[in-house]
Amino acid sequence: SAPLNPLRTINEEIYSFAELKQKEIDELKKLEAFRREFIADVSHELKTPIFAAQGFVHTLLDGAVNDKTVRTKFLKKAAKSLDGLDMLVQDLLTLSHIETGQIKMHFENIDLYKLTEEIFEQFEEKADRKEIKLSIEGSPRKVLVYADWQRINQVMTNLVSNAIKHSFDGGEVKVSFDISKKNIVTNISDTGEGIAPEHQARIFERFYRVDKSRSREKGGTGLGLAIVKHILDGHNSKAEVESTPGKGSTFSFKLPRVKPLEGGETEASKN
Ligand code: ADP
Repeated sequence: SAPLNPLRTINEEIYSFAELKQKEIDELKKLEAFRREFIADVSHELKTPIFAAQGFVHTLLDGAVNDKTVRTKFLKKAAKSLDGLDMLVQDLLTLSHIETGQIKMHFENIDLYKLTEEIFEQFEEKADRKEIKLSIEGSPRKVLVYADWQRINQVMTNLVSNAIKHSFDGGEVKVSFDISKKNIVTNISDTGEGIAPEHQARIFERFYRVDKSRSREKGGTGLGLAIVKHILDGHNSKAEVESTPGKGSTFSFKLPRVKPLEGGETEASKN
């Protein structure tokens, strides 16, 4: 073979090194842009409830406090804004804890049927107010998967909460499980406004909402689905959405199945 040209080799080395550095720089620039955008987004989201509460409190101080009906009304509105602020900060903390890995996952055998029953109990009142029926469809009494109970509780809570929020009055929110050999797919479906195809891919982004003002009015932080995405990431899974505008949506995610053995033992807990 031809003798090596040392100069050429060195040149190639330099080029590939420069290329590598450029990639690193691009990556850092992207991170920096992301960070800046995130801070801008968060500041904007924080400002909204602060601005509202501030307005009510100042109007009270300017004299409205002397009128008893106005006073109660404005205090209630200020309280609602502050509750929203509290929820937002809580969701931001959850998201940041998951992202920085401060939350250790505790994997164990968990029963999704029981979890769903517990979550439905918590939402009974909210569902009743809209006359929405909550049901678990055609499922065995025990649906065992290997997952972090607390985190999957959060995933299901966010999805069920959204399903109720976006359902029409008199509608139905159903949870069902597709059980296959190795996995279990959980489906949460609603009979609500649905999500247009162009929005479906984006709703998992932080602060992305199809209808900003309506979402805020309904008490949303815009972080619910971003949290769902991150938690499922930690389970090597992801949420899928199928939706027909005007009819409803189904959100689904897959988790590894644990088969119950005779005597109530389970495969993963056996050893
Ligand atoms: P939010 O706090 O606004 O509910 P989420 O991250 O939970 O934030 O959801 C993002 C957006 O996705 C919502 O604002 C809404 O537009 C849309 N969305 C979520 N779940 C549903 C659903 N079940 N039906 C219709 N739209 C939904």
